[in-house]
Amino acid sequence: MRSSVVPTPTHCLLSLHSWSSLLTNLLLLLLVAMTRMQSRVEAELDFGHHSNIELRKYMRYVNLRFPNITKLHSIGESVEGHPLLVLTISSPVHRHITLRPHIKYIGNIHGNEVVGRELLLHLIEYLVTNYGRNRTITRILETTVIHILPTINPDGYERAKVGDCTSATGRYNRRNVDLNRNFPDISGYQEKLQPETRAVIKWMQSDTFVLSASFHGGAVVVNYPFDQRQGDLTRIAYSKSPDDDVFVFLALNYSRSHFNMHHSVNCFPQERFKDGITNGAAWYPVRGGMQDYNYYHGVMEITVELSCCKFPTARDLPDYWQKNKKALINFLLIVHMGVKGLIMDERRRPIANARLNVGERYVSFRSSKYGEYWRLLLPGTYILKVKATGFVDYMSQPFRVRSREIYRMDIMMTREESASRALNGAFRGSNQGEATGHDVAGASSTVTSSTEKLPSQTQVTLKMSERVSIAQITTANCLLVTWATFLTLGSHL
Ligand SMILES: [Zn+2]
Repeated sequence: MRSSVVPTPTHCLLSLHSWSSLLTNLLLLLLVAMTRMQSRVEAELDFGHHSNIELRKYMRYVNLRFPNITKLHSIGESVEGHPLLVLTISSPVHRHITLRPHIKYIGNIHGNEVVGRELLLHLIEYLVTNYGRNRTITRILETTVIHILPTINPDGYERAKVGDCTSATGRYNRRNVDLNRNFPDISGYQEKLQPETRAVIKWMQSDTFVLSASFHGGAVVVNYPFDQRQGDLTRIAYSKSPDDDVFVFLALNYSRSHFNMHHSVNCFPQERFKDGITNGAAWYPVRGGMQDYNYYHGVMEITVELSCCKFPTARDLPDYWQKNKKALINFLLIVHMGVKGLIMDERRRPIANARLNVGERYVSFRSSKYGEYWRLLLPGTYILKVKATGFVDYMSQPFRVRSREIYRMDIMMTREESASRALNGAFRGSNQGEATGHDVAGASSTVTSSTEKLPSQTQVTLKMSERVSIAQITTANCLLVTWATFLTLGSHL
């Protein structure tokens, strides 16, 4: 009987309907599977210690999974040939956006100090999976370029032991050199450069970083420049840099955003750090350290000590992440303060490598290959001095950095030959003095110095600065970073 049933058009219709339902169900199943896969991606990184191979595998995976907002490259190799991988995160990441500031995070310079290494992997995960979902993270990625190097000492890491809280096993690189004593020193002191150190130096030359932090263990405190005193390299005493106000602010921003660092976590009875911060030399002098090298090369870097135990067991890692998460994010936000702009010639072409100083602050910084400059400053009135080869020295009018703003000032430099022509012309004329001065000064003028003329990118930045609420911070009372700032921000993380 069954064989005698002849399919009718109705059967065909039903059958089509069934196929359509089946297809819909399949699509739904696929959607559910994709959602679950997405959840698995987000939960992919476990709270464990990741070997060098696992670390690289994870970074490559993130890069493949998020190709539009991440870029992966190696800045060099360790002595044993491990690639030193940096993941760059921004949106978009593959093209240069004028005046978008670059920040770097470096972990594990001492191979046995591992908490930073793992936290940076978790930070990567947090940033990429929250882009487009979390307002703060989305704004950070759309206004900032973040470079993360989880380990600069993979060779040392391989010799370090889980649970070893205090020894120096694994601290040094494969040639037994302390990488955080291997940077060229302002005093002229210089050990033979190691491949890892050379890689960082080259990296800093290839990109213009504004802000930086490196992560250590063995204490819980933020340390800031200088790490030594000129003329008395071994003396333990506060060595104040010309940007001490800014460094104190940066250090406090981290310690006060941290769960308990600001309460002075004492790993050893003799060590007490008021507010969880210390000047480097006031703690102990360091020669050839990375943070002073950064500062002398235009980058404001702090050193963050994350844990009393240098290599804690994996079960403590979630706790470290929770304690540091907000601080790691807040630090990315504070890059948008102070002054920034472009250095150009008379035809508005960028001038790279111009040397800039803020007032009498004698540590200078340089313009990028695109002619951009940035300098973190607290609210106050400043002047900017610019020197560039072949151009007349420039000094700005006083400008005011206000709270909740980043001041933009583009500068047009005058070529020496143009200035000399103007001078000659003026002396040939019947009038002297004022006219000459006016011509020269007029040519070497500030092009843009108003926040109202800023392009949209900068306007976004201004809004971000408001979210950081640096309003309450002035040069005089920078210690009064309000809790409300971080509490407000924290609620968005
Ligand atoms: Zn260290």
